[in-house]
Amino acid sequence: MAMSHDVELPRDRAPVFPDRCVICHRDRPRGSVSIRESEKSGWVLLHLLTVFAPRGKKETITAPACEPCGRSLKRWRLVRHIFEGAVVVAALLIGRMVLEWNYWASLGLVVGVVIAMALIEVLWAPPFGATVSGDSVSYEFAREDLAKLFADLNEAEVAVD
Ligand SMILES: [Zn+2]
Repeated sequence: MAMSHDVELPRDRAPVFPDRCVICHRDRPRGSVSIRESEKSGWVLLHLLTVFAPRGKKETITAPACEPCGRSLKRWRLVRHIFEGAVVVAALLIGRMVLEWNYWASLGLVVGVVIAMALIEVLWAPPFGATVSGDSVSYEFAREDLAKLFADLNEAEVAVD
């Protein structure tokens, strides 16, 4: 996630969240939101393929959230997933029909798709997210104060991404 405050914890450790909604930051939200994340490859092209075929074991991350906030986060994730899929399909169609797989043109297209994906991440950064990789989970917060609280509770450090 772009412009986020990340806290990395070992994957086998249960995270302790402050009693605050991870989306609107209201105190004592009476609910939670669960998001499922599959393991992401650091290699961006493999990351693109995971849009269609999620690899690795899925991890469910549950964080405190008010009910409407939880619903909106889930809706946001669904819309982004569909949009990412559409971007990849559009790139493949253009490559096939317009460029007829001309080597350099196709390479340019791949670069374009990667930039588009990065833009999606920057423009549509959610207030809360997580990235699973190897033995660790990175918890990503838009707001620094919440990230700091979370890091303190879990005796970890905040890294700005
Ligand atoms: Zn909320």
